[in-house]
Amino acid sequence: MRLSRFFLPILKENPKEAEIVSHRLMLRAGMIKQQSAGIYTWLPLGKRVLDKVNAIIREEQNRSGAIELLMPTLQSAELWQESGRYDAYGKEMLRIKDRQDRPMLYGPTNEEMITDVFRSFVKSYKDLPLNLYHIQLKFRDEIRPRFGTMRSREFLMKDAYSFDLDREGAEHAYNRMFAAYLRTFSRMGLRAIPMRADTGPIGGNLSHEFIILADTGESEVFCHKDFLDFDIPAEDTDFDDVAGLRAIFDKWTSRYAATSEMHDAAAFEAVPEEERVSARGIEVGHIFYFGTKYSEAMGAKVQGPDGKEHIVHMGSYGIGPTRLVPAIIEASHDENGIVWPKAVAPFEAIVVNMKAGDAACDAACETIYAALAKAGVDTLYDDTDERAGAKFATADLIGAPVQVIAGPRAVGNGEVEIKDRKTGARETLTIEAAINRLTAAD
Ligand code: ATP
Ligand code: MG
Repeated sequence: MRLSRFFLPILKENPKEAEIVSHRLMLRAGMIKQQSAGIYTWLPLGKRVLDKVNAIIREEQNRSGAIELLMPTLQSAELWQESGRYDAYGKEMLRIKDRQDRPMLYGPTNEEMITDVFRSFVKSYKDLPLNLYHIQLKFRDEIRPRFGTMRSREFLMKDAYSFDLDREGAEHAYNRMFAAYLRTFSRMGLRAIPMRADTGPIGGNLSHEFIILADTGESEVFCHKDFLDFDIPAEDTDFDDVAGLRAIFDKWTSRYAATSEMHDAAAFEAVPEEERVSARGIEVGHIFYFGTKYSEAMGAKVQGPDGKEHIVHMGSYGIGPTRLVPAIIEASHDENGIVWPKAVAPFEAIVVNMKAGDAACDAACETIYAALAKAGVDTLYDDTDERAGAKFATADLIGAPVQVIAGPRAVGNGEVEIKDRKTGARETLTIEAAINRLTAAD
């Protein structure tokens, strides 16, 4: 992408409304624009990151055996009357009427709708296990939308729903998502810690929030420091291996970890003092086994191997992509801007032409840009006629992992500079060596 043809509305000033660094940087880097309280446009740079986050989520959901569909944002109130949640859900639910005066709502979540999809088609245990997910906008009329897309009213959620014949099957479905979540967040450069969460009236211990430690997080959290070093399940994890997945779950729940709502001070104090971590955290995912709560109310049942009807056991599994983007920035930035992990970077590299219009600089940059494009390296080429200083600031702000800097002096020697955004390390290489470096498989 040539910057001269891209849409990157960088802000020069620090926006006053932004209280935390990720919100400030997302506004300054031209990633988002607020449209009304808690409702945002994702501008092209932000959209690129969001797409990469979603692609990782999708790959890991698919790997674990979940199947993607797409449900609508607008739902009929009738479904929610069936489950009893139409009245129970408070003011967070945006209720609307269509021209026929029929009550509708903008979905805050999709348990009812997916249960309706399930009961319409699935009649036999032979079609189980089943896990269906989508990545779709939700609306919750939060009292205090804040911190940009971290807590917004309209936000994107990946929500998966599992269906099993019995509790045992549902536990395996839960463990699949548990392992998939560990992989998903790790691929984004994040260490998410599963913490025991409240299961409400259903009881049991099968609900976990996945929390990223960050000073600006809204939750107060307590955990054992071993979590910082536990191994992430490998790419070749067998998601059909019941015992193998249970072992992953057991390992990752073998140490103390809880948010303030579930905190047990005595149990935490039993952890040796030097191994305690008490910090703040951001909830980026939440998984939940809820048994037959919706299937019972809405008549989702299958014929079992015994010929009898069985109410199916369900779980739901959420991830917030539009919250993950600022969470990644909270975890990875410096005083000059964002430092993207390569896997989610809007561009893997930026080529900075320090003197656009200079024949030698232009030629060197065009050569590099073409070679990177050919090798499939997602590159932004700053071909604008801004001053070099402003270009460096922009390159640092938007945070591409590698910068290729072409100035008249170096180019005169057939060379360019490569700067690593994270470490700041610079190296001068021939144009050819620079291309080889950037296109080498890692
Ligand atoms: P919170 O406690 O932060 O309000 P929640 O527990 O209500 O979130 P869930 O219903 O568990 O949220 O939703 C699943 C995921 O969706 C959350 O883990 C989070 O990543 C994301 N999410 C929830 N609410 C918001 C929001 N208002 N803005 C952005 N993302 C959200
Ligand atoms: Mg939650």
